[in-house]
Amino acid sequence: MEISTSQISRYILDLQNELKGDSPSPAHMSAGEHGIFQDAECAIMAASQAQKRLMEYSLKERETFIEAMRAAARENARKLAETAHDETGYGHVEDKVAKNVLAADKTPGIEDLNTMAVSGDAGLMLTEMAPYGVIGAITPSTNPTATVINNGIGMIAGGNAVVFNPHPGAKKASLLTIKLMNEAIVGAGGPDNLLCAPEEPTLDTSSVIMSHPLVKLLVVTGGEAVVRTAMKTGKKCIAAGPGNPPVVVDGTADIKRAAADIVKGAHYENCILCIAEKEILVESCVADELIREMVKEGAYLADEKELSAIVGKVMITAKDGSYAPNKKYVGRDATYILKEAGICVDREAKIIIAEVPFGHPLVMTEMLMPVIPVTRVATVEEAIEKAVIAENGCHHTAMMHSENVSNLTKMARAADTTIFVKNAPSYAGLGIDGEGYTTLTIATPTGEGLTSARNFTRSRRCTLHGSFRIV
Ligand code: NAD
Repeated sequence: MEISTSQISRYILDLQNELKGDSPSPAHMSAGEHGIFQDAECAIMAASQAQKRLMEYSLKERETFIEAMRAAARENARKLAETAHDETGYGHVEDKVAKNVLAADKTPGIEDLNTMAVSGDAGLMLTEMAPYGVIGAITPSTNPTATVINNGIGMIAGGNAVVFNPHPGAKKASLLTIKLMNEAIVGAGGPDNLLCAPEEPTLDTSSVIMSHPLVKLLVVTGGEAVVRTAMKTGKKCIAAGPGNPPVVVDGTADIKRAAADIVKGAHYENCILCIAEKEILVESCVADELIREMVKEGAYLADEKELSAIVGKVMITAKDGSYAPNKKYVGRDATYILKEAGICVDREAKIIIAEVPFGHPLVMTEMLMPVIPVTRVATVEEAIEKAVIAENGCHHTAMMHSENVSNLTKMARAADTTIFVKNAPSYAGLGIDGEGYTTLTIATPTGEGLTSARNFTRSRRCTLHGSFRIV
């Protein structure tokens, strides 16, 4: 690796500062190793220092660091997937590998940042996308490694450093990703600690990060509780919250294809993705055919008695009458859930389906497991109306299978979701076998949608008065 003169002078400057005791040296602040620190305060201080150093590098150099992150994510995609799977027990290793590679390949980098220029009689005005500085990012257990890769690339492309507070239940995989990303940046001649985290992430460390004056932007990805907490801080916040994506199948749909796509989408990662198919609303005229085709694609159709045994296992009813998924079954294989419910199967089930009336707790609750309720409705209008109710105002994701453009348009308008997938598995909306860039942080409550580097910047205007035109 070649080291440029500018890099050498920066190292000398850092060393002089350290010797003078002018600035805290991450190496002295804790037993920190490539971004992992004893506590949240040390992680924030190290990230702040790293961000200042990042600003001394050119955009071209920043791009090199991002390329190194992408390469490291690709090289370690399997190792990270296996670590996350061992730690959380959620989903499938192969799907996690694919998500890591997706985040490495399809997360926008610095090309996402645009400068806008206006010139006129009064001179020139530039609007530039500037970094916030240090970002505090809270990440979920469901995508622990891909979210760090995706957030990390986008935030650093925007010129920031990031302090993560990973889900405690996925800390090993998340911290390993942070370490590997830092190693890659350092290997490419960049500053260490652009991605940091406390070694024991807890609700306390989360609260230190959320309230710290050096943390200028919060980016939270998770369920309702963390979104509520972050939005109450009074800080600028990008919140990516829960969803309960409905899938509507109307009478014009290619039923064979719809069945295959639904099973693929709901089976992917055992339905833990926030965008995955969580309930099906189907026009009665094609309901029997859809169910038959889904069974051919590997779905297990539970009867009424079996359904009540499954619900008894996977659903928790609180004293106030609200429902929640039993964590023991979140992200687990359908066959395992069936076995736990005392149901013997002679072949592997990809997902479990069961007919339920609309309003059943399985329809209205984000279950995060491959148990998918099917509700028959009389018309496409009724399907759309009920899909909107089931989506629960999350404005997150919805799917529809239809060959009728006006039905698709009706659904798109009524659902008003951040992602609307037509005639494909839900994951096409993330760019897996679908067009467009990817994100693992879909900001629904705060409205940024599919976040990328540009969302992690603030807008700055620079005005030059007088003529600066060539025409
Ligand atoms: P979770 O809400 O349990 O945890 C998410 C993160 O928030 C974790 O780091 C956790 O430690 C933290 N957290 C939870 N409660 C908190 C509180 N009160 N204060 C501070 N931090 C808190 O979610 P999970 O099980 O890890 O992930 C699944 C959930 O996340 C689902 O609801 C899913 O829809 C959602 N999700 C949304 C997106 C999106 O892009 N919109 C992406 C992935 C997951």
